[in-house]
Formats: sequence, structure tokens, C-alpha cells
Amino acid sequence: MEKKIHIAVVPSIGFSHLAPILQFSKRLVHLHPHFHVTCLIPSLGSPPLASQTILQNLPPNITYTFLPPVNPNDLPQGIDIVIQIQLTLTHSLPSIHQALNSLTIRIPHVALVVDSLALVALDFAQEFNMLSYVYFPAAATTLSLHFYVPKLDKETSCEYRDLPDPIQIPGCVPLHGKDLYTPAQERSGQTYQSLLQRINRYCSVDGVFVNSFLELETGPIRALTEEGRGYPPVYPVGPIIQAGAKSSDDDDANRLKLKCLAWLDLQQPCSVLYVSFGSGGTLSLEQTLELALGLELSNHKFLWVVRAPSSSASGAYLSAQNDDDPLQFLPSGFLERTKGQGLVIPSWAPQIEILSHCSVGGFLSHCGWNSTLESVVHGVPLITWPLFAEQRMNAVLLCDGLKVGLRPRVGENGLVERVEVAEVVKCLMEREEGGKLHRRMKELKEAASNALKEDGSSTKTLSQLILKWKKLV
Ligand code: UDP
Repeated sequence: MEKKIHIAVVPSIGFSHLAPILQFSKRLVHLHPHFHVTCLIPSLGSPPLASQTILQNLPPNITYTFLPPVNPNDLPQGIDIVIQIQLTLTHSLPSIHQALNSLTIRIPHVALVVDSLALVALDFAQEFNMLSYVYFPAAATTLSLHFYVPKLDKETSCEYRDLPDPIQIPGCVPLHGKDLYTPAQERSGQTYQSLLQRINRYCSVDGVFVNSFLELETGPIRALTEEGRGYPPVYPVGPIIQAGAKSSDDDDANRLKLKCLAWLDLQQPCSVLYVSFGSGGTLSLEQTLELALGLELSNHKFLWVVRAPSSSASGAYLSAQNDDDPLQFLPSGFLERTKGQGLVIPSWAPQIEILSHCSVGGFLSHCGWNSTLESVVHGVPLITWPLFAEQRMNAVLLCDGLKVGLRPRVGENGLVERVEVAEVVKCLMEREEGGKLHRRMKELKEAASNALKEDGSSTKTLSQLILKWKKLV
């Protein structure tokens, strides 16, 4: 009888770091039914509802444990979200250690896979005799930047955003310094120092899984996987995205899904623009008003996931569903006037089901990597509206590299004004340029599907590694 291969997985906090690593675990057990994955889940306060929902209906060979939640009051107030996440992980280390100890006493585990913001847990891999891997839930372009930053740091004396020329990271689309990952924007800041420390840890791992695929990011993936360039082995295993939930235990979620799908069923094919800023992206009040009026002005159908405004773009990242009623911030009379034109959903919508509906023809997105891949997999071109983290880099990749996105112009007042919103929506939804984007996105959709077929690039990569693990058991 074939022996079971046991793996332990440590996500970081936040829906968009838990969902991808769980989905990766599902992919492992799908490719190799003799895998058993144990997921040790840290949390800050009680885990968000969406995170709890995705833990329903896991296959029997994926089990999970919630680690004792960290009390938000035990963290300094007003700190950057990345630091907040990392401190939560640091506070969770004793319980991660304890959990790994009791797991490995009973059964040897071949590998420890941690999320890119849970690297502090990697130290335990050696202690418990496990191989160590990072699951990088972002683009290969972003991973390339990680490996390039130490060189850039040595060679540059100013802030990267002040560099006159675009930065040429091997294999990547040229990037202006102002578009780099947020932690690289303030070199004297704590988040930049913590980025440098994280990057350092990558050098000692046994491998990095990146949620991308060769046909999507050929340049960066070729550069990352070239022999002898001194990085740990990089395994492109994507696109790994969530499957739409069949039905959940949560009646409100089921009702919401039916409402969105019933409305989409009434619309023409490819006629609706889906508007969403990820699991926690927020706009300022002024920007929310401009976006609303711009959507109205475009005359195109829209399905908009509205969140209460905030002065911080990642304001709702760890609390997307605890908002005040977001609809009260919309322009006066907007909901009445757009009754036949749009559907407005407060805070959270079933994104996968929406993107896979044939009425959806465009996605105005903050370009989080999960949303980006979900758009690619469902063949929906984008209007790119990056807010924080590495979203600007994703927007450049989508617009300049892959040419499946349009980036609206930000005015001198820092806002994308209503006329610009309307213009870019029209361009995507009705003009020849939008048609070209659609056609290119259809090609990427095909390539995404091929990468995951039995002989596809990502399946082959993962299967080879699984063979290696099997030999160790
Ligand atoms: N999402 C969703 N409904 C929403 C908003 C987001 O299902 O209303 C999901 C979306 O499908 C994606 C994830 O949340 O899987 C957001 O991840 P992404 O990397 O795009 O952005 P982040 O949340 O990290 O900013």
C-alpha cells in the first residue's frame, strides 16, 4: 500500500492569504490522494466570516486547527498592515511550535509550507526534520522583485520612486519606482526593513511555490527558474483560484449569491462591469462619490461591491464584513437613478460566481493577485485600479505586459474623476480597444486552463516535486 505523505501548512492572517494556500493544499491532495495536509491557522481576534466559510467542505485529507487567536489589544495600535500580520504570526509562534510538535511526534511530516507573510514559522522546519517551502500567493513578477531588491538596495541611494528610469528586473515588464510594492516605497520605514529581512529568509528554503504559470509570466518565470542564479528553486504552480462555493451553511451568503446571479441572468452577454476592490480595499469618500457618478455617467451596467470609505486603502483588510452600512456614503439619489443600470452589494459578493457569469464583460479591480488570476481564468479583461501592496505592479503587468487591462488616469487632485471613470468604462465595454483586450484575455484564459491539464506546465512542475517527496517517505 502506498504510504501517506504528511505536510503541515501555516497560512498568514487575512482571507486572501488563507484561501490561496488552502486551495493549493486541495490541488496537492487532488494530484496525489495519499497526501494529508494539516493547516495550522493563526488569527487576529476572531477569524473573518469569509475565512470560516472556505473551511467548510474541505476534503477529508485536509484537516485544520485554529491556533489560539492573538488579541488585537496586544499589538501596537495604528501600525502598518504587513507589520500587524507579521506580529500576529510572531505572537502565534509558541502555539505553532506546540502544534507541530504534537503532529510530528505521532507521524513524521515531509514538508512545512508557509505563506509568504508567515516566514517566521520556517525555523521549526529544521527542528522537526521537515523540508521548508514558501507559498507565494502573488505574481512571479513580485517574487522577482523580492530577489532583486538586495541588488537595487545596494546600487540606489534615493527612494526608488525618484529614479528617473524604469527598473528592469530580469524577465519582467519595466516598472517605475513609484509602482513598486508598497513596502519598498519608504526605504527608512519599518516595512522596508522587514521586507529585507523576509527576503533574506527566502535564501535558505527548499523551494518557493508561486501562484502563476509559465504562459502568463514567461519572462520572470524563465529568469527565476534558470539554473545557477542563486535563488532557491521556484515552482510555478498556478493559476490556483477558489472554485465557486456550491452552497454554504450561511443562509445570508446563499441569498446574496442567488440575488447576484438572478440579476446577472437578466443582463445581456458581456454587458456588465463588475467593480470590486478585493477582500478589504477601500476608497476615500471623495473617490467613492466620483466612482459612483462615473459609473452612472458611463451608462453601462455594473455590479459594484461597495465598502464604507476609509482614509486608508487597506482600511477593511482584516474586517471586510464589519463595515457601517456602506450605502449611506453613496451620492444622494444614486441608488434610485441607477436602479435599472446597476446592482450595488454592500461589502462582500460571491466573486467567483460573478466572474464566471456570461453577462460579465469587464472587471474594475484593485488588482490583488487572486482577483487578477480569477479574471484571467474566467477571461474577463480589466480596468486596473491598484490601491496598496503589490497591486500597482500587477496593474503594470496587466496593462503594459499582457495588454488585458486599462489604467484610468489619476488627476492632479489624486482622484480618478467621474469623466475619466466613464471614459475608461466605455473604452473597455464598447470600443475596439476593449474588443482587443477581450480577445487577448480569451487567449490567456485558454493558456490558464492548459497549464492545469495533466500535461500542463504547472501540473508537471508540481508532479515532479511530489515524486521527490514520495521518495523521501
Ligand atoms: N473576494 C470575494 N468577494 C468580495 C471580495 C473579494 O469573494 O466581495 C475574494 C476574491 O474572489 C479573491 C479575494 O477575495 O479571491 C481577494 O484577494 P485579492 O488577492 O484579489 O485581494 P486582497 O484581498 O488581497 O486585497
